[in-house]
Amino acid sequence: MNHVKSIVVLTGAGISAESGIKTFRADDGLWEDHRVEDVATPEAFERDPRLVQKFYNQRRKPLLNDEVVANAAHRALAKLQREFDGAFLLVTQNIDNLHEQAGSQSVLHMHGEILKMRCKATGDIFSCYNDIDVSDLCDCCGEANNLRPHIVWFGEMPLYMNEIGDAISGCDLFISIGTSGNVYPAAGFVQMAKHAGAQTLEINLDESAVAANFDRGIYGKAGDVLPVWVDGFLGT
Ligand code: NAD
Repeated sequence: MNHVKSIVVLTGAGISAESGIKTFRADDGLWEDHRVEDVATPEAFERDPRLVQKFYNQRRKPLLNDEVVANAAHRALAKLQREFDGAFLLVTQNIDNLHEQAGSQSVLHMHGEILKMRCKATGDIFSCYNDIDVSDLCDCCGEANNLRPHIVWFGEMPLYMNEIGDAISGCDLFISIGTSGNVYPAAGFVQMAKHAGAQTLEINLDESAVAANFDRGIYGKAGDVLPVWVDGFLGT
């Protein structure tokens, strides 16, 4: 793969699993023991903002007190970005900050970030390193209950789609890591990459729902197999 000049990597919940963050269970529809419809939709936030804020407060906490830290797979991607001499873009569906913690730069969080809040009125985005209550006043508009998690909920449009589309159209290697292939549009990126003539590689615990669309698959824990693949690719 020495002729590779441009890489796009897509990651999903599986890359953070070995750090202790639970993956999303598509089969029973539960995420961290909650129904997605109760905590991860705009309707849920309208209906019960207190429950939704509490859910994201709980997800934020382990990242802030170092209970959850980056693993070997996150570190391998940071190394790939550092040492690869072509274009590189890391796109993640994850809302955690473990890629950044490992040293990755300019990560596109297409489903938002748990360590950020957004004002419903102005769209302004704020860093958030503490619990949020519905009575908290927003920094920009001074109103209560205007702060929402900067998360793309089910039914909302993912972020950075133009940048991601441009990068995939111009890449010659697309790698998907730790994603089940059930959530679109991310699950369709492999077809965009193939259409652009890129080589495609899936790294996952087991075959994803879209495994047949990849040229090649490497199956195992990302923390075990990804560092080996990165070292082989870089020739280190
Ligand atoms: P998913 O939970 O649907 O799929 C995870 C995939 O990772 C599965 O195919 C599983 O087999 C694989 N996997 C599990 N452990 C692995 C490991 N150690 N190494 C490699 N692969 C492993 O996740 P998804 O495809 O990202 O989609 C679910 C949605 O839920 C996304 O929108 C995502 O934003 C959200 N989510 C995010 C987080 C997070 O931020 N860490 C956690 C859970 C869910």
